[in-house]
Amino acid sequence: PPDVEQLGRSTWTLLHSMAATYPEKADSQQQNDMQGFLKFFSKLYPCWVCADDFQNWMAHPSGRNKPQLGGRKEFGWWMCEAHNEVNRKLGKKEFDCRFWEERWRTGWKD
Ligand code: FAD
Repeated sequence: PPDVEQLGRSTWTLLHSMAATYPEKADSQQQNDMQGFLKFFSKLYPCWVCADDFQNWMAHPSGRNKPQLGGRKEFGWWMCEAHNEVNRKLGKKEFDCRFWEERWRTGWKD
């Protein structure tokens, strides 16, 4: 079975990089594409408990966790919150989402 930690690190890199290169303002085609990606990603992610929890989080009945796909800023922030949800679940430190762009788009590596 895949190494859940290694898989996770690589996958967050992919997901945050996708947010970092998302258009500043996304048209409806681009929003649809990302919506579709997230839908299938959250079904197919090869850590099944992770995938289940992530799907349930996104589909919270209040609608509060729905992907924010209007543009890079909202989507990046949303992805950061999604990651923080997992951080909380695992007892890891939360990331200050104000630094999201610095970490994943413009700046520093750790
Ligand atoms: P990661 O959490 O992998 O983070 C990598 C880097 O991202 C960090 O070093 C930091 O620089 C940056 N970062 C941290 N938080 C944020 C943030 N909020 N926003 C932006 N950047 C940030 N593991 C489980 O054991 N159980 C699960 O249920 C589970 N669910 C997962 C669901 C998904 C969708 C994904 C992608 C991964 C999941 N994982 C799960 C894996 C887990 O999230 C971690 O990737 C793994 O534990 C390795 O953690 P890490 O401490 O190396 O850093």
